[in-house]
Amino acid sequence: MAEKRDYYEILGVSRDADEAELKKAYRKLAKKYHPDMNPNDKEAEAKFKEINEAYAVLSDPQKRQQYDRFGHSGLNGNGFEGFSGFGFDFGFEDLFDTFFGGSPFGRSTRRKTGPQRGSDLKYSLEISFTEAAFGTTKEINISRMQLCHVCKGTGSKPGSAPETCKRCNGTGQIRHVQATPFGQMVNMRVCDVCRGEGTIITNPCDECRGNGRVQKTSKISITIPAGIDNGQTISLRGEGEPGFRGGPPGDLYVTVRVKSHPIFTRDGYNVICEIPITFTQAALGAELDIPTLEGTMKFNIPEGTQTGTVFRLKNKGIKHLRSNAKGDQLIKVNVEVPTKLSAKQKELLREFAEISGDDVFQQRKTFFEKMKDLFSN
Ligand SMILES: [Zn+2]
Ligand SMILES: [Zn+2]
Repeated sequence: MAEKRDYYEILGVSRDADEAELKKAYRKLAKKYHPDMNPNDKEAEAKFKEINEAYAVLSDPQKRQQYDRFGHSGLNGNGFEGFSGFGFDFGFEDLFDTFFGGSPFGRSTRRKTGPQRGSDLKYSLEISFTEAAFGTTKEINISRMQLCHVCKGTGSKPGSAPETCKRCNGTGQIRHVQATPFGQMVNMRVCDVCRGEGTIITNPCDECRGNGRVQKTSKISITIPAGIDNGQTISLRGEGEPGFRGGPPGDLYVTVRVKSHPIFTRDGYNVICEIPITFTQAALGAELDIPTLEGTMKFNIPEGTQTGTVFRLKNKGIKHLRSNAKGDQLIKVNVEVPTKLSAKQKELLREFAEISGDDVFQQRKTFFEKMKDLFSN
């Protein structure tokens, strides 16, 4: 915070100025720097704030005495920080509004007496790949605040009731009246005795020690819809913590983590599966046993299937979350080249190569023809 100017200096009065002198000096300056007289003038506005602050302190005998003895620091911690603009109940904005047509209750009046919604809760739930694909029901245990079953949330021992706060007469707020040269200024503050509740628990419940709520672990059943994907969130309305003073409960947000599957991966609603095949299967074609979400099925790959070819099985994927449509299953075949061959196997392969020539390998043939052209030029 910037160094503060001396209040007497701000108002241009001597340290022994009496109330009348202060008032006169204040009125003169307030008129001069009044925002209505100086529209859009930030400097005048700052000056005006400064003048008001100085006057508010010096016109209050108790605060003036503190200020005289300890300076600005004498006012800190005595409910006067509001003027430095750090959001205390009695900020300048209130003063300003009250003087110039704002609400007499100011902007910073914080009512705490109304109903308040309970807190939302978050939970992370791990499910399997197939549970996500087909949907499931899961039971989870969550630790959350619940209304105390002994006092039914009142916080008072059964048979007794909270008493109305005498300080604020149950309103939860206290009127704070301050005399200013423009008349009385009224501020509403949160009651410091009942902390805005309006009532005081004189005979607290043993179970919750007057809180009206206790931490409890509850079992909740969650229906997980088919098609849900990793990272998606299910919201359960009203399964959060209870509200205050009749406010609604919060919600529970369950974020789903889908475990990876040993052979399937997912892309949106499509299921991808990579299947190794032998080069004889690729060359001759074959009937394969294909794993799908619903079990194995027979699938024929044609003669001359290349490695990396993707086959699509319509509607064998995952059901859409919000419709009955289904994704596809994509089968990618990869030709596996054997790494450990016996002498006999090698012999046969060499024989195969000898009788094959380039005509059997179309791609290879084309490639080498291109290469020949490239280097003969
Ligand atoms: Zn209780
Ligand atoms: Zn009170």
